[in-house]
Amino acid sequence: MGGKLERKVLLKKQVQDSILSYCKIKHPNEAILILKGKSKKGLITIDGLSIPPFSFSDQTFAGFPQSFLPLDLAYVGTAHSHPSGSAQPSVTDLHNFFGLVSIIVQSPYEENSDIFAWDSQGNQIPISFEQ
Ligand SMILES: [Zn+2]
Repeated sequence: MGGKLERKVLLKKQVQDSILSYCKIKHPNEAILILKGKSKKGLITIDGLSIPPFSFSDQTFAGFPQSFLPLDLAYVGTAHSHPSGSAQPSVTDLHNFFGLVSIIVQSPYEENSDIFAWDSQGNQIPISFEQ
């Protein structure tokens, strides 16, 4: 352990449903959303979403200009979809990392098992789902 902070993501059910629906609507293009919540002692609780202004996406990339974002301390990261069906973060994803956590949802966006959380180094963070 070496005193390393054990991180975990807590995803509220309502937010989870919204992310999955949004990914389905945008398919076959990627969807991208900003995650809102709070982080305390390694626990990142996600309880809200925001659609980033001026976002753009195609079948292999989704992004947004960070300079247009209002400063909001509740932003903890982003969620985006991978229509290809693999939830591994791409090099581009890691270069465009925003906040503390990157959630990637793989097609077909149906189950908890399609949802993965990553840190800026590309290490997986465990997620628990909560009502
Ligand atoms: Zn990606």
